[in-house]
Amino acid sequence: MCYVAADISLYRTMSSTVENVVIIGTGCAGLTAAIYTARASLNPLVLEGPQPGGQLTTTSEVENFPGFPHGVDGFQLTQNMREQATRFGTRFEQALVTSVDFTSMPRKLVLGDRTILAKTVIIATGASPRMTGIPGEKELFGGKGVTTCATCDGAFYRKMEVAVIGGGDSAAEEALFLTRFASKVYLVHRRDSLRASKIMSDRATTHEKIELVWDAVPVEVQGVAEGSVSGLKVKNVKSGAERVLPVKGIFVAIGHIPNSQAFTPAIDVDENGYFKAQPGSQVRTNVPGVYVAGDCSDHVYRQAITAAGMGCQAAIEAERWLAEHGG
Ligand code: NAP
Repeated sequence: MCYVAADISLYRTMSSTVENVVIIGTGCAGLTAAIYTARASLNPLVLEGPQPGGQLTTTSEVENFPGFPHGVDGFQLTQNMREQATRFGTRFEQALVTSVDFTSMPRKLVLGDRTILAKTVIIATGASPRMTGIPGEKELFGGKGVTTCATCDGAFYRKMEVAVIGGGDSAAEEALFLTRFASKVYLVHRRDSLRASKIMSDRATTHEKIELVWDAVPVEVQGVAEGSVSGLKVKNVKSGAERVLPVKGIFVAIGHIPNSQAFTPAIDVDENGYFKAQPGSQVRTNVPGVYVAGDCSDHVYRQAITAAGMGCQAAIEAERWLAEHGG
């Protein structure tokens, strides 16, 4: 579906404020888009969702963002970007977009009981942690022992045994971080080799405090009756044998789900819910003047630096679109 862009002069006459550019999301992608559009004097409005700063704020040390030879704290990195965006005039507002109307100009963003009008929109809503869905996980999520963030909650598990579920870079990173506090970390993975990069795999598989539980899927989080995690039942997918890991904390690190729901069906998504870009572009959507950036549309690279790069591309596209359409 492709909507024809109407003449911007049509909505200049409307009484409501029409924003030049509204950026949704404050992760690396959204904040980079804010820096670029603010420096282009577009006076961007950034809508901040339920996880300000995005996924980087739940990472400990970021070692691969160029310009930081000794690494940088993830939270600090996003704070720096925010400060940089603010310096050039970016406005921030806490708001959750619940639905959109992109069928006419200006574009409409619905935030519960009010609507924001925008000439261009950059969607940088990121992705949320995927959960296993096993019994007990939901009941004991949060302060009761099941979590998705070692950086946030790891310190609560000093001298205790914990489990990390997953085999990617996130799981390896969480497991390694948890070794600072926990007496033992079980890394539960459904196959017999990690998906994580070699450097992270090597670190995790050779760490004395980490026990790899290969070929194992989680079956049940135990402790619901007591109100806190008392164990994780896992099953070996090859032998069928079950065992209970005597853990007090469970860190789920099995990937993410893109936050695209509020924008469908207006914006095309793939079978996994990731926004689809138009051929020849990483950031243009099926709606003119509406762009996507970062983990909500990128399921291939998913790095802080690639999200920042997409935020930059989306900002330049928005700037050009406004110039061409009399913004
Ligand atoms: P990921 O690479 O998609 O890995 C998800 C892991 O969870 C996989 O090992 C997968 O198993 C497992 N899994 C998925 N669904 C499962 C289920 N229902 N039950 C049990 N296990 C399940 O996700 P990620 O680790 O969050 O990483 C996402 C991206 O961010 C990657 O590109 C990664 O390189 C990047 N990242 C980088 C860093 C870093 O460089 N410092 C840190 C974190 C993340 P299978 O392997 O069998 O599919």
